[in-house]
Amino acid sequence: MTPLEILAPAGSPESLRAAVRAGADAVYLGGPSFSARASAQNFSLDGLREAVRGCHARGVRVHLAVNTLLRDDELPRALELIRFACSLPVDAVLVQDLGLLLRLRACAPELPLHASTQMSLHTPQGAAAAKELGFSRAVLSRELTKEEIRSIHDAVEIELEHFVHGALCMSVSGQCYFSAMLGSRSGNRGMCAQPCRLPFAAPGGTGHDLSLKDLSLIGRLSEFREIGVCSAKIEGRMKRPEYVAAAVAACRLDADGKPVPPELLHDLQAVFSRSGFTTGFFDAPARGKTRPLFGVRSKEDAAAAASVLGSLHSLTREEYPRVPVRLTLRAAAGEPLVLRAEDGDGFCAESRGAVPEPARTRPADAETCAERLRKTGGTPFFAQSVACSVDPGLSLPASVLNGLRRDVLDQLLHRREDRAPIPFAETPFSAAPHRSAGTPALRARFPSWDLPEESKRCEICYVPWDTPPQRLRELREAGFPVGIELPRGLFGLEGQAASRLREAAAAGVRDCWTGNLGAARLARECGCTVHGGFSLNAANTAALEQLRQFGLADTELSVELTLAQGEALGGDLPRGLVAYGRLPLMLTRACPAANGPKGCLHCTRTGPAPVLTDRRGARFPVQCAGACSEVLNSVPLELSDRLGALAWADFLALRFTTESVPEQGEVLRRYLTGGAPPGPYTRGLTARGIL
Ligand SMILES: [Zn+2]
Repeated sequence: MTPLEILAPAGSPESLRAAVRAGADAVYLGGPSFSARASAQNFSLDGLREAVRGCHARGVRVHLAVNTLLRDDELPRALELIRFACSLPVDAVLVQDLGLLLRLRACAPELPLHASTQMSLHTPQGAAAAKELGFSRAVLSRELTKEEIRSIHDAVEIELEHFVHGALCMSVSGQCYFSAMLGSRSGNRGMCAQPCRLPFAAPGGTGHDLSLKDLSLIGRLSEFREIGVCSAKIEGRMKRPEYVAAAVAACRLDADGKPVPPELLHDLQAVFSRSGFTTGFFDAPARGKTRPLFGVRSKEDAAAAASVLGSLHSLTREEYPRVPVRLTLRAAAGEPLVLRAEDGDGFCAESRGAVPEPARTRPADAETCAERLRKTGGTPFFAQSVACSVDPGLSLPASVLNGLRRDVLDQLLHRREDRAPIPFAETPFSAAPHRSAGTPALRARFPSWDLPEESKRCEICYVPWDTPPQRLRELREAGFPVGIELPRGLFGLEGQAASRLREAAAAGVRDCWTGNLGAARLARECGCTVHGGFSLNAANTAALEQLRQFGLADTELSVELTLAQGEALGGDLPRGLVAYGRLPLMLTRACPAANGPKGCLHCTRTGPAPVLTDRRGARFPVQCAGACSEVLNSVPLELSDRLGALAWADFLALRFTTESVPEQGEVLRRYLTGGAPPGPYTRGLTARGIL
């Protein structure tokens, strides 16, 4: 069994150094662009080269994060960055964008690819999708329980990486449109402005009902191994080097089976926390009972750091002895001294000294020499074995042996910097301009299985996945073109979802909406016609081609594209546009509305949708279903007066959430005939787009 990897954030060269010296096995970092932490310092191309050489010399792997969504015009530059990274080479590239994935498999088939947590993979089918798509590793969603991770590991042979320490987002990563919708700063483009840390109040809640404490599972790393996680990831590319040092040092001790001293845990909390830590979802907190997960960064939290920075510096004073080395000394009479060093990676170095003098008093012996050579302290090496062949009667002073040892290890360190590049061959990709049918069809999703008469004029009416099969039959017989919407959050529900899809098929319903790769694969395996949802985040032509190859019949585009950007996408896959509705700003596993004393009635689908209120009084409904909640926008997206500008789309998707059935009917009529929206509305990002 390979040992658990401690994977550290390196948002800057200083943090990189702290991570390496505190004992990380691998680091992840961003290049000059396209990293999910755009405002971290990140690395220039030269800085990246230095970082990779320095890390490889010290036995540390480097993962390059190119994990943002990309537009057509950005893909060539992202590929150029990765071509450079392959020349170094980095050890893996983290990817979110499906188009980049498609292109990388063609250009650099040998490059190990890791599916970013931004891909929202959280089920066995999700991991299987990642494997099928050519990823060697999946970074799982942070909201998983221990048993859910185990079940993914048991079902799919793919490396699993999971977060051990650091900030928790309220939304499942890759499913948050909050910052983008509120201020055009997209979390999917590394620009999140963290609006969730501001006051959003549920009735009777904490007042900050979208702000979670930071995660810490330090002390639980033996369980990571046991459930099949191969890499423990520390969050924090925006954090200071002392934080990185403390988190890495604590994880290192825990992973090595050693106790973590209470002082180190204290310092780790002092350097950054939000009112202490939480174990998040690892221990499966009951739905509706997640209030202890919530917390904010207080003034006291912020003040605590100053007192511990000094002591945390000591964690990075010396190199971490990580690389095993075999030393061989030959001291023969009349010949120059030779010290040879070999590592386990095929590198070796040799250092020659002077011809040893005959000893005047005590001659050198092999054992004493070996003891001296073992002292590799202060270097990244530790002596795995030392073999000395020493002729009798020679003088080998300590200073001579120390000098040889220093020289040979220094040489070896520099040799280790050079690695063979990973082949990268630019392959052409082109797609013809897309041709649509002319007038987009209407599709609609409904929050329940009561549908307005007008929905018969839709191409597909999606009803919830748990609609009783008898009701599906009735709807079909009454002329409603029903399909099934699978939940975007399928935590632990895949088995049930599969049975529902089979029952639906028996009732003659085959169309299935899927907003997650795992759900899409599940629906495909169940023989459905698979329709992609906006939350697959398809943002470029290559991504559409990737989804086509994955077996989708069509897809909704990313809601972060402008109309012009959507229209410009090429290729064959039919595509649609979310044209109406309160867009889900977040997909959350902890129900924010359950923080009040009465809990959330809507979690059990018996009450009306509860509402979060922001500082200005804007009201954001929360709809709960299955394993997750959706925080909806305060106003609906409306484009019914702009239908002429949407003719390029193959279909328009209307998302009904809080509307009554008569209201749904009115909206449908408006989208069939055109007309101005009656109430307050937003254009979403269709005009202004994102940064
Ligand atoms: Zn709820």
